[in-house]
Amino acid sequence: PPQPQADFDFFYLVLQWPGAYCDTKRTCCYPTSGKPAADFGIHGLWPNYKDGSWPSNCDPDSEFDRSQISDLVSRLKRNWPTLACPSNDGFKFWEYEWGKHGTCSESVLSLHAYFDTTLRLKDQANLLQTLTDSGIKPDDGFYDLQKISDAIKDAIGFTPGIQCNKDPERNDQLHQIFLCVDTSGANFIECPILPRGRCPSQVQFAMF
Ligand code: 5GP
Ligand code: 5GP
Ligand code: 5GP
Repeated sequence: PPQPQADFDFFYLVLQWPGAYCDTKRTCCYPTSGKPAADFGIHGLWPNYKDGSWPSNCDPDSEFDRSQISDLVSRLKRNWPTLACPSNDGFKFWEYEWGKHGTCSESVLSLHAYFDTTLRLKDQANLLQTLTDSGIKPDDGFYDLQKISDAIKDAIGFTPGIQCNKDPERNDQLHQIFLCVDTSGANFIECPILPRGRCPSQVQFAMF
């Protein structure tokens, strides 16, 4: 069957390390269901253009109808937990990401498909396992950025984007990993452009 025409070039799958989100001068709050697993969580699936720019809030009329994703809620709570304050069940975060980013890929992914696809990609990436298999563990130790990048590249086949933030002592720590995905949401691809990194050559992998 003919594929729908995408009006963007690729997706970033953005995964966040909760230990880094929470270990800053700003506080974080655990979701109402409790402390998330010590695993990467989803930040979002973001349509992007090859030149580094991106569309946002593409369909203000699009409704975030919770009943359409009710079958995904338990997986969303486990894999896409919100760490923003005040503590909440996560729907605000999912609705925000849908409105800002998901509505810009509505030509290829419906509301349900957007969340289902993102959850599947997170499983497929299997990032924490890949890193720990390479001896890179969330133990507050410092690791070579290049080794982190190489471990992911060896496992997934493509170079990731890596972003850092700073802990209260101003140490740079591993915060977000960006993987690029084709416009159908099916396959990882080499990134047409990497996001700005903000990481030095050695970064801390915070405990969570
Ligand atoms: P920040 O300024 O913290 O890097 O990004 C703020 C927000 O802008 C992100 O949460 C995301 O919604 C959006 N954003 C930042 N960088 C990118 C990007 O490279 N691509 C897309 N699609 N959105 C981005
Ligand atoms: P910068 O000055 O780093 O390019 O952008 C500053 C902020 O503007 C980013 O953190 C992001 O939130 C926003 N921004 C940059 N480029 C784009 C874009 O192409 N689209 C949108 N919606 N926001 C952008
Ligand atoms: P973005 O940075 O994608 O534009 O914005 C993310 C929005 O979702 C922010 O308003 C942020 O407060 C909210 N949010 C809720 N939970 C989380 C979370 O766990 N991580 C991040 N990065 N943002 C979250």
